[in-house]
Parts: sequence; structure tokens; C-alpha cells
Amino acid sequence: DQNKFPAIIAHCKEYGFVFPSSEIYDGLSAVYDYGQYGAQLKKNIRDYWWKSMTQMHENIVGIDAAIFMHPTTWKASGHVDSFSDPMIDNKDSKKRYRVDHLIEAFAADLPKEEGEALLAKMEILEKDADYAGLKQLIDDNKIKCSVSKTANWTEIRQFNLMFSTQLGSVTDEASEIYLRPETAQGIFVNFLNVQKTGRMKIPFGIAQTGKAFRNEIVARQFIFRMREFEQMEMQFFIRPGTEGEWYAYWKEERMKWHLSLGTSPERYHFKDHVKLAHYAKAAVDIEYEFPIGFKEVEGIHSRGDFDLTQHQIYSKKKLQYFDTEINQNYVPYVIETSIGLDRMFLLTICEAYAEEDLTKDGKEDSRVVLRFPAKLAPTKLAIFPLTKKDGLPEIARELMDQCKSSFYCFYEEKDAIGRRYRRQDAIGTPFCVTIDHQTKEDNMVTIRYRDSMEQERIPLDKVKEIVLNAIS
Ligand code: ATP
Repeated sequence: DQNKFPAIIAHCKEYGFVFPSSEIYDGLSAVYDYGQYGAQLKKNIRDYWWKSMTQMHENIVGIDAAIFMHPTTWKASGHVDSFSDPMIDNKDSKKRYRVDHLIEAFAADLPKEEGEALLAKMEILEKDADYAGLKQLIDDNKIKCSVSKTANWTEIRQFNLMFSTQLGSVTDEASEIYLRPETAQGIFVNFLNVQKTGRMKIPFGIAQTGKAFRNEIVARQFIFRMREFEQMEMQFFIRPGTEGEWYAYWKEERMKWHLSLGTSPERYHFKDHVKLAHYAKAAVDIEYEFPIGFKEVEGIHSRGDFDLTQHQIYSKKKLQYFDTEINQNYVPYVIETSIGLDRMFLLTICEAYAEEDLTKDGKEDSRVVLRFPAKLAPTKLAIFPLTKKDGLPEIARELMDQCKSSFYCFYEEKDAIGRRYRRQDAIGTPFCVTIDHQTKEDNMVTIRYRDSMEQERIPLDKVKEIVLNAIS
């Protein structure tokens, strides 16, 4: 399955889903642009998340906080002091590695059991932040591994992942601000604004989607790990003491959301965190089996009152809630669900991508198809007049006008029908409709289904309804 990854990356580029950023200047490392179909697919995933979180939950509302925040935010949240990864430099190649990624690369080169033992040792050392031990582990194992046989390594250092910049024109320390490394803090600092103006009663949630920035030390993993990416986060504010039950609830609820998209359940699993982040009381990842192995797509975290308490201390403003049911004032606890939109995009492409051999009766044939769930597909319906004349384009245009305010349609009149179908398969369009000469007689059209490639004659005036049913 490893070979599938380069094929998917090439497909994303060839069909206008994802381009390297500023490609005419040879790209920018770990930064990507979404093309015409990619932007639409990404929007559909974001909308699906937003709807299931806000519209479908009466007690969750959405906000849109700024990327720039007061610099003290990041002192209070702990990011200035502890949002860092241990890293190590290769003195010869001048390349920088995240320590865990380097040891993972070592492990991949070793026989299975030895590799697993190495990773287990690493986990313990990481948990204790034992950098001398980790350095020793690298020195002891580097001989066995192709990445680094003779390399000369520096000591391990902490590397803060936040990008900083200057606000305004003054360059003193007070004007240094950060690009947010997560969207969550925009929610915490607005907790009281939303609670009061929305008259929210605990338990309630605040959801948000938006860009986040991390100066990651990256191995080439396409859009899996980027320096500029988008998160979809929700903080759920609860009464202290109920965190166990809400943590279990959101864990299950989020897995249900993933499975609602028709993904094979065996490609998902939960992975509990061994090493907890500075804010967390309990944390679990939802992992998906990408062609590069099981990897995190989403995290569910029980954050206690860490964030609100910290913001109370630093801002000297009370961030409390008066619970009329128990007549008590308290700082609410928080359960967070945090998913990367770009990772969900990559998951959606990996799950949908299929190379199919269609050889029949000795005639070689094949296709690449993206089997997106219809509600996520960038284009829902392709409309093809069989020929450019005889009034067929007019009928096709009329259908287009009927449908395009309800969902994305694509119109094309060039090339043989078979080739037009294949191009739609490659961008994942679930339905194609062909208007031919017979249509003028009987008002029937040929609908062709992406997944089965089956075709049938249906009434022209049923097309819109069929598509609407499939995407609702
Ligand atoms: P990782 O262990 O992969 O670095 P993390 O545990 O730091 O991720 P969180 O801080 O919990 O991730 O962020 C929540 C989600 O945001 C992740 O599950 C992931 O989907 C997404 N995410 C985090 N960092 C990146 C990144 N550099 N590029 C793309 N998505 C990311």
C-alpha cells in the first residue's frame, strides 16, 4: 500500500486538488495550495463538520476568532514555555530532525521485534523528557540504520513550534505576537462573551474552524503535516466531576461522525496517549490507516479547568459560571475535540482513491476513480450533450440551469463520452447524465453511476431529485 501514496500525491496535482505552494519558485516546504476541486472538497468536509457540530447540537454554537491574539494568551496557555518538540541536527547533512521521527525511521529499518522494542524504549524516555537517554538511544542504534550510519549528531534541543512576527512598526518585545498554533485559545478567551450573549447553560460547546501555524520539522508527508493548516475544534464546557462521562460521550460521538461517511471501520482505531500534553488529564487519538500507516486524524482531550484557570490568572478577569441547578460558582471543565481539516481531506482522498483494472475479453482497460461519499464530492453532476449540435446542448444547458443553484454541476461537450466519463471518475463526480437524440423524442436521458459504471435511462425531469436525494 506504500506505493499508493506517491500515486495519490500525483493524482491530487494532476486533477487540481492540491498544488505545492508557490510552485513556480520551486515550492515552499510543507506548505500547499488547494486547487479548484481541492478547495471545494475541503469546503464540503468543513461544512459537514460544522453542520454536525453546530446545527445538529442545540447546545453548540460556532465562532470565528482572529488568528492574531494578545501575546499573553500564549504565556497563559503554556505554549511559550512548552509548545516545543525535541529535535536534533545532523552535523554533516545540516538536516534537522524531530527526535521521535528519527527514531521511528531507525525502527522501520530494523527487524519487526527489534524495531518495536526500540519504539517502546523511546516512549518511556520521551515521557520522562530524558534527552540524554534519547541521545544515547540514537547513538546506540544509528549504525544499524541507513538514514544515519556514520552521521555526526548534535545534542538534543527543544524547538518552539510557534511562528512570531511584529505587530505594527515598533520592534520592542511587547509588539512581538504569534500566529496561533491552535484555534482553541480563541474559544477560551471568548468563553464568557459567548456564554453571556448566547445565554448558554452548561453543558454547552463552542466550535470553530480556522488556520493554525506550526513551524514543524517535517519529513516529507504531503499534507499530513504542514506548517500552515486548518483545524476544526470544539470545546465543550461542563460541570467539574462530569468529565469522565462527557469524555466517553465525545469519544464515541466523534467516531460515529467518521463512520457516518461510510469509511471502513477496520481502518480506524483509538489510541490512548501515553505521554499527556501539559494541559491534559486524559487524551485519545482517532487514528486512520493511511497508506503510510495508522496515524492521528483527531484528538479528544479532557482538559480540566487548565485553560480557563490560566486565563483567569493572567488576565485577572473571572472566567466562571454560576450553575443555578446546584447554586454554585465554578470554573468549568472542558472536553475538547480537535481534528485537522487537511488530514481529514487526505483521509477522504486515500479512502476514495482506487485504481481499477477493467480488462474485458482480452481488451486492456483501467481507470482511476475517487469514490467520494456523494455529499463530499466537489462536483455532483456532470451534464453531457452527446454532440455539439441538433439542439442537444440547449437541452443540456436547460438541465444545468435547473440544477446549478442547488449543487455543483459540470458541463462538457467535447470528446468521446467514454473519455468524459473517465475524467469525472478521476475527480469523483458521482453522477453523469448524457443527452442524446432520443432525448428529443422521449425526454429520457442516460444516467451513469460512478461506482458501478452502470447506466440506465431515466426521465430528464427526475435528474435533479436523484442527485438531491444522494447528497442530502
Ligand atoms: P501530531 O502528534 O501529529 O504532531 P498533535 O498531537 O500535535 O499532532 P494536536 O495539537 O492535538 O495535534 O492538533 C489536533 C489536530 O490538528 C491533529 O489531530 C491533526 O489532525 C491536526 N494537526 C496538528 N498539527 C498539524 C500539522 N502540522 N499539519 C496538519 N494537521 C495538523
